[in-house]
Order: sequence, then structure tokens, then C-alpha cells
Amino acid sequence: MKCVIAVDVGASNLRLATFSGRKMKNRISFKLQSSVNPIDYIEEYIKKFSKTCSPIGIASAGPIDIKKGSVKLINYNNLTINYVESLKGYGDVYITNDCIAGLLAEKRFGEAKKTKNAVYLTFSSGIGAGVMVDGHILIGKDGNAHEIGHLVLNYEDDTVCGCGKNGHWEAYCGGKSMPKFFYKVTGKKVISPEEIFKMYYEGQSEAVEFIEKCMKINAAGLASLIDAYDPEVIILSGSVYLNNEDVFMKKLQELTKNYVMNRMPELTTARLREDSVIFGAGILATLKGKLP
Ligand SMILES: [Zn+2]
Repeated sequence: MKCVIAVDVGASNLRLATFSGRKMKNRISFKLQSSVNPIDYIEEYIKKFSKTCSPIGIASAGPIDIKKGSVKLINYNNLTINYVESLKGYGDVYITNDCIAGLLAEKRFGEAKKTKNAVYLTFSSGIGAGVMVDGHILIGKDGNAHEIGHLVLNYEDDTVCGCGKNGHWEAYCGGKSMPKFFYKVTGKKVISPEEIFKMYYEGQSEAVEFIEKCMKINAAGLASLIDAYDPEVIILSGSVYLNNEDVFMKKLQELTKNYVMNRMPELTTARLREDSVIFGAGILATLKGKLP
């Protein structure tokens, strides 16, 4: 069976693999520093496999310029990469947002199989989503119809988001922003969301109050999402979520009801867990970029 190349450029992880149908091979992953250019690693991998496998599907953290085939990577010092230009000569390249890829994979193999209305929502370095309404994946004029991490949840607050604007959901509870927000709320310095959750599980009162606050913010964001798109299922993923699944699930079920108008959808965990996006990139390549 013919194979394709799949690339997942996350905010802090890079995953690469080849797919023959559903079978994943040659999977490698790196944790990347914000000072490197992921394209160097991608090109090295593609050089090795492009003679036997094509086309290339790339699922990337955004925001994206779908017509140019470029993205601005907020977590890599706002580095702009044009994947199509950079990988010229290695076969056709198709790109999409990483959360759309996650949604594609869950639609084909996972939790969205039986529905036409689904949201794939990730809590990792940032907060992002892929959205399917009535069987169509939403794209938008530049390819960013689903940038829900940048929903304004507090228009009066000056907490600055990684994108440079104020009061965005991700600026409070995206993994990368959580330590900064924790400092603002408690005056205590931490370096990672893991550290905050560790203090939470130990029952340290400041961390318990902070996670309560964050879950209220997450519930408000989730409610906005449900009221905007009316999904049947919300598929949750991303490292911050997957490492703290029980807390998120319990709190979101409980708190979202206070904010949402529409009927609550089912909340569930991505069946492919951290591999949804790389599977989705493979599906994107197989579909030659033609999304449902
Ligand atoms: Zn933002």
C-alpha cells in the first residue's frame, strides 16, 4: 500500500510519521525549544522518506494563512514558516491547523465517528479547537474559523495573550500562560502548569483556589463554544488536559452549566489521545487536502 508523510507541529512538540492506510510507521517526536526552526527537522525527515511516501500532510499550530500555506508560530518567537515554499521539490504539501487534524482523526477513527456536529478542543501550551458543523469543517477566510483560544473572556482586563491582544481565554488558562496568571493571582512564581497542578493535588490552598478559578474560566470558554457551534460532542485533548483528565472532566461538567444556554453536549476524551493530530495529518495527506 502507498504511504504518505504526516507532520504535527505543536507549540512545543514536533511529531513525524508515515502512514499506509491506518498503519503508522517511522514515528519520531521531539520536544522543541522556542529558539529553533521546526522546518529544519521536518526537511531532514522528509528528505529521508519523500522518495517512497507522498504527499505530505502538515498539521500546525496557527494562526494560519491557508492561501499562502504559511503559519505564524506564536510559541517560536512569532516565527513565520511557509511550509509550501520551504518544502518545494519534495512532493505536494497540504497544511491545516493542528486541531482540525485532531478532529479529522477523531471523525474517522474516534469519538466523532457517529456525528456531524463535533468540536475537538485542546488544552496544551495554548487552547485551540477544530469545529465541524453539519458535516463541514469550518475554515474561514484565512483558515482560522476556530481560534477559540483567543475568545475574549474579559474585555476590561489587561492580561496579554501570546498573540499580543488582551483578555483572551488562552492568556489565562493556556499551559504557557498559566504560570504568569498564577503569579498575577497569588504573587508566587512557578515555571509550569505541572507545578501548579502538583500543588493542587497536594491540597495547597492557593493552588486549589487558582485551579478552581481556571476551571471557571475554562467553563465560560466552553459555554461560549457550545453556544456558538451547538456540537453534539466535545472531544478533549492536549497535554494539560490529558495529564489532569479527571479534574477537567469533573469541573467542566459541573461548572459549564452555569454559563451555557444551549443544550449540553457530551464531553469526552480523544480516543487517539496525543496521537490524534499526527493521524489527522496523515488523513489530510490521503485526502489531498480536501476537507469535508
Ligand atoms: Zn490571543
